[in-house]
Amino acid sequence: MDKKKAKERIEKLKEEINKYRYAYHVLNKSLISDAALDSLKKELFDLENQFPEFITSDSPTQRVGSKPLKEFKKVTHEEPMLSFNDAFSEEDMKAWLERLENYLKTQIPADSTQTTAENSQRKSASSPRQSAFYCELKIDGLAIELVYENDIFVQGSTRGDGLIGEDVTQNLKTIEAIPLKLLKKEEVIKNLKNLKLVSTAEFLEKHWPKRLVVRGEVFLTKKEFQRINQEQIKAGLKLYANPRNIAAGSIRQLDPKITASRRLDSFQYEIVTNLHLKTHEEKHLLLKAFGFKTNPHNQALNSLEEVFDFRNQQVKRREELSYEIDGIVVIVNDNEIFQKGGVVGKAPRAAIAYKFSPREATTQVLDIKVQVGRTGTLTPVAVLKPVEVGGVKITHATLHNWDQIKRLGLKIGDTVIVSRAGDVIPQISQVLKDLRTGREKEFKMPQNCPIDNSKVVREGALFRCSNPKCGARHREFLKHFVSKTAFDIRGLGGKIIDRFLDEGLISDAADIFALKEGDIAVLERFGEKSSQNIVKEIKTRQKTSLSRFIYSLGILHVGEETALLLARQFSQNNSQKIIKPSEVGRFFQNYSLEKFQEISDIGPKVSQSIFDWFKSEKNINFLEKLEKVGVEIATEKPKAQSSKLKGFTFVLTGTLKTMSREEAKERIRTLGGEILESVSKKTSFVVVGEEPGSKYGKAKQLGIKIINERKFLEMIEI
Ligand SMILES: [Zn+2]
Repeated sequence: MDKKKAKERIEKLKEEINKYRYAYHVLNKSLISDAALDSLKKELFDLENQFPEFITSDSPTQRVGSKPLKEFKKVTHEEPMLSFNDAFSEEDMKAWLERLENYLKTQIPADSTQTTAENSQRKSASSPRQSAFYCELKIDGLAIELVYENDIFVQGSTRGDGLIGEDVTQNLKTIEAIPLKLLKKEEVIKNLKNLKLVSTAEFLEKHWPKRLVVRGEVFLTKKEFQRINQEQIKAGLKLYANPRNIAAGSIRQLDPKITASRRLDSFQYEIVTNLHLKTHEEKHLLLKAFGFKTNPHNQALNSLEEVFDFRNQQVKRREELSYEIDGIVVIVNDNEIFQKGGVVGKAPRAAIAYKFSPREATTQVLDIKVQVGRTGTLTPVAVLKPVEVGGVKITHATLHNWDQIKRLGLKIGDTVIVSRAGDVIPQISQVLKDLRTGREKEFKMPQNCPIDNSKVVREGALFRCSNPKCGARHREFLKHFVSKTAFDIRGLGGKIIDRFLDEGLISDAADIFALKEGDIAVLERFGEKSSQNIVKEIKTRQKTSLSRFIYSLGILHVGEETALLLARQFSQNNSQKIIKPSEVGRFFQNYSLEKFQEISDIGPKVSQSIFDWFKSEKNINFLEKLEKVGVEIATEKPKAQSSKLKGFTFVLTGTLKTMSREEAKERIRTLGGEILESVSKKTSFVVVGEEPGSKYGKAKQLGIKIINERKFLEMIEI
């Protein structure tokens, strides 16, 4: 993206995000899902990273939370309440760690050989001192700060804008998970000693904090969420969109009785007061020792690999948990390093939220193509800028029919929300029209069929090719294209081709090579593994031989033998080893009908058919498309080899161990030799494999030179 366009996009994104933020945080209205909003924010964050000159102080990436509501007393936080930057993939996580290590000029974890005496003591007590990261579940709730003076809870506040929050002490007091008083000093010390945190216990013995500031999250359980929504139904009121909305709304109630009726819950995860703790994990242990509720699933881990495993475990755990989580938070465990990392924007450099794959994302519609189904129905399909939704990268979304496009008001170039619920294929659920630049294009259903150019007829909501055979023929062609003698894409059987056609994943054979794992993985009955295998298989078949390539094109009357003759024509006039599909097109486009006829063994009917094929603009476009998706062609034979067996004729009999009969024939032809079906006096050599047939006897009878496989291999070796 160039600078001008980036600036334009950044401005648009800022406005859009701000619109949703205001609605969500100030008005308590959710106009867009968090996942979709996150993906807009991520795009903005990435663009600003790329063009830091366009970062302004009013950018949503530079802000935390919302302005306090007027009704509540304001509370200035002693330390800003930061938020976390987001990562969505292992690559994002690796990039984060690399940035951090470069900034700190140190490896994480730091060299563990530099252990102090105290350190090794802790180590022997299996203390988590050495762990690189502390990983926490990212609870989908509301951040709060709690202040305790002389062990008594005196003030609780919301994050607000990160610097100034709202005093919601009365409301927080209604939450049973939040202690109104810390445990007694003796008990805390005892707890710490049980946890082998001896130095911390000794420190607190001497320096018990008069004022303790901690932070955590207020949330609503899934069960409570359901209960409250049931009540809303009974009362004929509007349903809440998610537990977080209720938690946030409840905490901001002016009447604490309403808050109390919501039965909120809370985990604490941070101690702001400096108690000279070495690691973030110790903070959690101490919080627990003080009597706070901490999350039992949090874990200290040693490497990013372990972090990835931890995250995957939590993805599985997500459904069973009694509350909503939307990712994990990864924090550099060593508090000293964490401090050194400082703050970037409004987030600590040494921590990151590793979000679960959102079930929604925003992306752009690059094109809308029309796919012809088995029954000849035309289905519009959106070609998307690749985006990850529900854990898989997708590039297509079916639009079902013309009415769907009208309902969405979709234009080519639009930014859209793509959502995927459960195992259903991805859908475009919303068009973000405010992000339009004016360069978007209207989509029109074609008047002629993209396959055979027949007239398109409309039947209610459906558009159909007027040629009843069109869809079935198209399907047959696709099956031919991937068949064993053509591109030989194993694993793409007729049923799978049908499925891809039905879902709009492919509209022509070239689309096969553009398939992404995610496109397939979202289909029912296709797992991650099988889609990986299919894509891998397709990739290995991207390169093919020239004769196979010509045969695959499905030119009328052109079988394998004719394809071979055409391939030879090309090779005799070209010395390149690797060629592109369009070069084949250009080469044969220059052939006159007579020139095709001059090729021996090609009759007039076949010549006409080949001539017509290469004259069609549609076919030439198809060749270009194949080139774009990476199809490469290896020419049959470099010229220098072509005459080694010239003038010799071969008959094959029996089974060869090292190659198939087809391969042997191809090899002989490549070297200029000729294959004969039966033995005669004209035969130069009879190649005899295992269990030879009657040809062997005939050869002996006629005194023809007989060679075994080893000898044959020597002969065809260059
Ligand atoms: Zn048609």
